[in-house]
Amino acid sequence: MKRVLAVGGGGREHAIVKALARGGADVFVAMKNRNPGIARLARGFKLIKETDVDRVVQFAKESGAELAVIGPEAPLEAGLADRLLEVGIGCVGPTKSAARIETSKKFARDLMHRYRVPGNLRYAAFDNFEDARRYILDLDHEVAVKPTGLTGGKGVKVQGEHLKDIPEVLDYVREIFEKGIGGAGVVLEERIQGEEFTLQAFCDGRSMVPMPLVQDHKRAFEGDVGPNTGGMGSYSMEDHLLPFITKGEHEKAVEAMRTTVAALHKEGCPYQGILYGQFMLTSTGVKIIEFNSRFGDPEAMNVLPILQTNFVEISERIVSGTISLASVEFARKATVCKYVVPEGYGMQAKADRPIHVDEKGVEMSGAELFYAAVNEESGRILTSTSRAVAVVGIASHLEDAEKACERALRFVSGEALYVRHDIGKKEIIQKKIARMQSIRK
Ligand code: AMP
Repeated sequence: MKRVLAVGGGGREHAIVKALARGGADVFVAMKNRNPGIARLARGFKLIKETDVDRVVQFAKESGAELAVIGPEAPLEAGLADRLLEVGIGCVGPTKSAARIETSKKFARDLMHRYRVPGNLRYAAFDNFEDARRYILDLDHEVAVKPTGLTGGKGVKVQGEHLKDIPEVLDYVREIFEKGIGGAGVVLEERIQGEEFTLQAFCDGRSMVPMPLVQDHKRAFEGDVGPNTGGMGSYSMEDHLLPFITKGEHEKAVEAMRTTVAALHKEGCPYQGILYGQFMLTSTGVKIIEFNSRFGDPEAMNVLPILQTNFVEISERIVSGTISLASVEFARKATVCKYVVPEGYGMQAKADRPIHVDEKGVEMSGAELFYAAVNEESGRILTSTSRAVAVVGIASHLEDAEKACERALRFVSGEALYVRHDIGKKEIIQKKIARMQSIRK
């Protein structure tokens, strides 16, 4: 049996570990919190900081791991894949150099520019405030302000949304340099408007195989309002597209990803792992918001449960450079994922409250449950300030998947919890279709 190291203890990683275990692997997990779902599935686990490369590599060696799947981005930036490769452990997760597609927004935009990746945006990158200020005062369009490096998904501010006017744009850019947010450096991109969607792909260095499209909901509250979060829930459709997107537009997103994978290969940093593309469908076509160097969270929980091919085999193909379209299959099912979060998540979250899950009830509802940022302590499961558990309804049609998700949510209880119930419902999807129709006009 294959011994596989998995890194990370969130909802995304619970989905990864479940897929690996389903594929017959003995899974050993390095995670910082005691995720009860992962702990139960794993042959062994160790509570370690995921960016502590020395200790993770040591644990991988002790466990006899032959392969590793790295969940979050921070260990990739810390060079975990490079170190595992050095000791002969193949990695689903790019090297530090290839992960720059996520860890440096400047690297990503420059690469897309040099290789003419379709859907790139007008942008400029700065390493000091004065130059950025001069550029901003000359602007004739609105911008999105992005710290160059990793900020845990909380660094991007958009003019017209989070930033009211040019003085506010300047204030935020100054703050990025003064506080060194994301490593001090800023990318200013043209602001675009439209519907966002996610395309994830398995990449083996040269080739890539796309997964079904997913739409996440970043805003904290129903109706897509409130502060941005890590993602409150997501859905995918039985035809693997989304209701507001055409086949041609999907093809454009795939082409952008293929061109990027080829560019990284040409640059001498072949990309082996999961590539995540965040796109926006606008009045002028499909545009790239950003790339991430790992599965999305929640998006991993939409695609992995309907993966029909053995995920261990796919991981081996990623590592050996033998992935092909014919080697990957997904069930033609729809999925709806809703995250149960502590009240106040996205602002001031109420943490350390017990949460109860009746797993049998969830299963009987036609749903799967993934534990996220919770901790198991003396038989109790406690919430943290981040997302607690995700429930994923799976069915042949979206409507039934949404109903299954809601049925299953009744088996999750606790105090001070919040769920965005609108995700996957007809009303919000109709609104997105109508919005896209008016943008297209
Ligand atoms: P990111 O961290 O790059 O995914 O950005 C977070 C969010 O900011 C995205 O999901 C978008 O909603 C928004 N955003 C990022 N870049 C732009 C842009 N160039 N124009 C408009 N909105 C953007």
